[in-house]
Parts: sequence; structure tokens; C-alpha cells
Amino acid sequence: MSNMSESKGIWVFSDTYDLTLEMLGKGRELANTLRTELAAVLIGSNIQEKASELTKYGADKVYLIDNPALKNFQAEAYLSVLHNLAANYHPEILLIGSTKNGKPLAARLATRLNTGCVPDCTRLSVDENRRLIGERITYGGNAIAKVTFKAKPQIVTVPSRAFEKPSPQERNGQVLKLDVKIEEPRTESVERKPLETSTTRIEEAEVIISCGRGLENKEDKALLDDLATVLCGQVGCSRPLVEDRKWFSEWVGLSGHKVKPKLYIACGISGVIQHVAGIRDSKLIVAINKDPEAPIFEIADYGVVGNLYEIVPALQDALKKQLQ
Ligand SMILES: Cc1cc2nc3c(=O)[nH]c(=O)nc-3n(C[C@H](O)[C@H](O)[C@H](O)COP(=O)(O)OP(=O)(O)OC[C@H]3O[C@@H](n4cnc5c(N)ncnc54)[C@H](O)[C@@H]3O)c2cc1C
Repeated sequence: MSNMSESKGIWVFSDTYDLTLEMLGKGRELANTLRTELAAVLIGSNIQEKASELTKYGADKVYLIDNPALKNFQAEAYLSVLHNLAANYHPEILLIGSTKNGKPLAARLATRLNTGCVPDCTRLSVDENRRLIGERITYGGNAIAKVTFKAKPQIVTVPSRAFEKPSPQERNGQVLKLDVKIEEPRTESVERKPLETSTTRIEEAEVIISCGRGLENKEDKALLDDLATVLCGQVGCSRPLVEDRKWFSEWVGLSGHKVKPKLYIACGISGVIQHVAGIRDSKLIVAINKDPEAPIFEIADYGVVGNLYEIVPALQDALKKQLQ
């Protein structure tokens, strides 16, 4: 634990660039409230250009660690860099992207710095004693916990799309290129394969057509693909379609992707709390379900009680005619 009075500044780090920008937006707001500086930590190889771009998104400072050994994410190496920097500069708050890599990294960093870590904060604020307050969904989506810290740095992880990406502005910032000792990794990546997913991340999609257990066969996914093509959207699903049926590789919801599209169409999804927790920030929710009592209708802006195998093609036809 570092001396509380010594710590200063808010830091942002993620292994995904968009999430770094989203956190810079929120970080800027917190830094203004605390009258402190906002810094981004950028780790990788050949990333000088990106470093100066981050200042436009609100960073007063960018700690740039540019090294060929850091080209791809490697837990021990990235951890040693962050630990080294934090132990030297004593940030007051650290926002880390809640990605597959970021979450364990944040927990390990907190252990090394002998401090706490609050994962998956969807809201952040500070109290009158400069303490960070993180809000996170808990009890399977039934409650929101407000958590604060007894030690510094105060480390939280932030999921994608929890905060809006700020618009870039012409502003001054400092890029500090640092040479940090990198711990020799104890593991080695022997092969890297891109995940077979659609080109846009589902969190970025403006229109999502999602299916649940109401879909009877894997091939019927084509129905949703067709509707998604008409609406220039993306197809998503509930968790059982990934975990039990293995028809998709990622799902929407509390334990999956939190999405915020302009339009979310839920087809054959019951709408239990764990699914709803990931879609509640959508601008417009349309539910198609044959059970009029399905909980999804409680959150839907528009509901269609009916068989998705009839409604989805009919909707697609109607939209096609309308858009012609
Ligand atoms: C810790 C934890 C975390 C979880 N996280 C998530 C998560 O992130 N995301 C998630 O989705 N789930 C999550 N779950 C699982 C969740 O509890 C539900 O089991 C799941 O969301 C149900 O998926 P579903 O709505 O597709 O299926 P069901 O609940 O079985 O619902 C299927 C719906 O389809 C309707 N239907 C059936 N046939 C048709 C038809 N032909 N036309 C129209 N409607 C039809 C039915 O009326 C029913 O409402 C989690 C569970 C746990 C315990």
C-alpha cells in the first residue's frame, strides 16, 4: 500500500484501444473533479503515433512503453511494466479495461501493490475524501453494489461501453517515452489465431438481432442473419446458445457482452435478469416471444407475442419493402 498523501493522478490502461478512449472520457471527468492529472499508459510495439492521439482524447500525459518484446499482450511482461510504473509514480486511481487480459492483470497488480481491486465498474464517482466509488452489478444482476477503497492506488476495471468515447479535441499533452525493465515471461505463446467472429465488435453494433433458446436448430440462425442484413446489424444470442448448444462463440448479458445498440431485437429470449443486465442500456428493445408472460416484455419498448419463425420473416419482408 502506498502512502495515501503521496499518490496523485488518474491512470488509464487497456489492451484494447477503444476501451482506453472510453475510460479517458470518464477519467477526464474524475480528474477535473479531483483537480489532478490524467495519464494514459500505452504498452506495445511501434505505437508512437497512437500515443500522441491519446492526448486529444483527454490525457494530460501518456506513459509510452514501446518495445518489440511487448508487441502482443503477455501477462507477466505487462504486469511488470505496470507494477514498475505504479511503484515509481504512485497514481491515486487506476482504471483498467475489463477485458479477458485486463481483468486478471488488474487483480495481480493490486496484489503486488497491496491494494484492492473492484472489477466491472459501470459507474464511477469520488466522495468528499477523494475516495473513488465504483458501482457494479451484483447478486446475478439483482442489485448494484457501491464499493470504495481503504488503500491506494484505487484500482477498478471498466467494461467496454460503460462510458462514452469522448470526441477528439486539439489539446496539449505530454508523451513520456519510458524504458522499463521487463520481467522475463514464464510462458510463451506458440501460436496466435484470430477468433472467427464478425468484423464489428458486438458492443459497437448499432443494431443487434439476438436469439435465444426459442431458436430450434443451428441452421435457423440464417433467419436472423437475413434480418440483420436488412437492418445493417449484427446477430447476438443468449448464453445457453454458446454454453449448452455451442452454436455461437460469445453471448450478451451480465457475464457476456454488455451492449448499447440503438435497436435490440430479442427473438425467443425469455429475458431473465442475467440477460437483461447486458441490454438495459439499449435505446429501443423489441421482443418477439410466443409466451405473453415472458419477462422480456417487462423491459421491451415494443413486444410481439408470436412465433419467431413467422414474425422474423414477416418483419424482414416488411422492412425490405419499406426500404426499397
Ligand atoms: C451467473 C450466471 C450468469 C449468467 N449470465 C448470462 C448472460 O450473460 N447472458 C444470458 O443470456 N444468460 C446468462 N445466464 C443464463 C440465464 O440465467 C438464462 O438461463 C438464459 O438467459 C436463458 O436464455 P434464453 O432466454 O435463450 O432461454 P429460455 O429462458 O429457455 O427462454 C427461451 C424463450 O423463447 C421463447 N420461445 C420458444 N420458442 C419460441 C418461438 N418459436 N418463437 C418465439 N419465442 C419462442 C420461450 O417462450 C422462452 O421465453 C447466466 C446464468 C447465471 C447463473
